[in-house]
Amino acid sequence: MDLLRAAAGSAGGGPGSRCRDVACYLSREARTITIADVKTKVGPLILLGAPGAGKGTQAKLIMQRYGVPQISTGDILRDNVGRGTELGKKAKAFMDKGELVPDDLVCDMVADRLRQADCEQGFILDGFPRTVGQAEWLARLLKSEFFEKRCGVPPVVVNFRVGYNQLLRRLTGRRTCPTCGRIYNVYSQPPRVADTCDVDGSKLVTRKDDSEEVIAERLKAYERQTLPLIDYYRRQGGLREIDADGPPEQVTAEAFRAIEDGHRL
Ligand code: AMP
Repeated sequence: MDLLRAAAGSAGGGPGSRCRDVACYLSREARTITIADVKTKVGPLILLGAPGAGKGTQAKLIMQRYGVPQISTGDILRDNVGRGTELGKKAKAFMDKGELVPDDLVCDMVADRLRQADCEQGFILDGFPRTVGQAEWLARLLKSEFFEKRCGVPPVVVNFRVGYNQLLRRLTGRRTCPTCGRIYNVYSQPPRVADTCDVDGSKLVTRKDDSEEVIAERLKAYERQTLPLIDYYRRQGGLREIDADGPPEQVTAEAFRAIEDGHRL
C-alpha cells in the first residue's frame, strides 16, 4: 500500500531546507531544550499516524506523565455530534462516510480549545493536523499566539508507523468505554469480562466508523490527504518516526524519549 511505503521513505530536504516554512520558530541552537524545561513546559506535541496507529492510546499515557491535555479532534467532533450542536450536524455526514470534516470547521474548533487555560504549558494534538492546510494554519496559530506569548517551546512531531494488516486488526478489534474513554482491543488487549470495562463496568461500544466499509474510506482519506503531512514535517527537519508495530510499552518509551531529548521542530 502506497501510504506505508511513503511513510517509510527517506527524509526529504537537507539541512538547508529547514526553516523555510512558517512552522520554523527558532534558530537551531535555541530549538534545543533541556529535560528540565520539559518538566515545566511540555509545549505542543503533535501525534501523526494512520487511523488505528495507536495515537489515542499513546496520547493518554503522555497526558498522565506530563499533565498536559489530550486534544483529540475525533473525540471533540463525536461529542458535538452526540449533543446535536451546529458543528456536530455539519460534521456528521462527513464522519459517517469516513471522510475528513472541512478544514475551516475543524480549525475553528481547535483554536477555541487551544485558547483554554489548561493548554498554557502544552497540549497533545491527537488527530490534528490531518491536511497540509491544517498544518499551515496550526503553524501560524502557534507562532502568533503560543510561541511568543505563552509557553515558548517549539513542537515535537511524532509519526507512529504501523503496517497495514496491523492497522486493520486494531480498527476492527477496537472497543471503547463510553464512560471513562478507555480503549480495548478484542484481539490484543481484551477486557477481563467480555464487552465490559475493567474500570467502571460499562458496556463497551464499537465506534460507528470502525465498520469495515468506513474503515476502507478512512484509510483512503489518510493516504490522500494526511500522508503528505509526513513530508511536510520531514522537510522541516524535526519529524520523529516511531515503529508502532512493536509492544505498546516500547512505543510509549520511544515517545517519551522523543519528547524529552530536546530535538524539536
Ligand atoms: P478519529 O477519531 O481521529 O479517527 O476521527 C474520526 C473522524 O473525525 C475522522 O474520520 C474525520 O471524519 C473526523 N476528523 C477528526 N479529526 C479531523 C481533522 N483533523 N480534520 C478533519 N476531520 C477530522
